[in-house]
Amino acid sequence: MKRMMKGFTLVEIMIVVAIIAILAAVAIPNFIKYRRSSQATACVSNLKQIQAAKEQALMAGKTTLDAATLYGSTGYIKVEPKCPAGGTYTIGDATTDPTCSYSETDANDTSTWHSLDRGATSTGG
Ligand SMILES: [Zn+2]
Repeated sequence: MKRMMKGFTLVEIMIVVAIIAILAAVAIPNFIKYRRSSQATACVSNLKQIQAAKEQALMAGKTTLDAATLYGSTGYIKVEPKCPAGGTYTIGDATTDPTCSYSETDANDTSTWHSLDRGATSTGG
């Protein structure tokens, strides 16, 4: 009577592990890229929100544009926006745009840009 075989051989397990390693090697860099890209997009959205709050504060006659004026229950944004990548925002004055400390760290990779002029093709704005 033939003996029943149970489980997998070492070679079979090694093949499965190799296939998983190849798939992970392809997927992980893409995952990192898309994650960075979505963080930058969310950051730009926050910067637009801060810019809108600044403009609203200026319209209301406020002269100081700081965190105490813009954020909170008496400000123009209820909760202070945070950069999803961990950058910090500089509100700036009436003539400048708000900026993120992570703005344009890599000129060749726009997925790392945390800047309001992201993707701008002309200077006319
Ligand atoms: Zn940012």
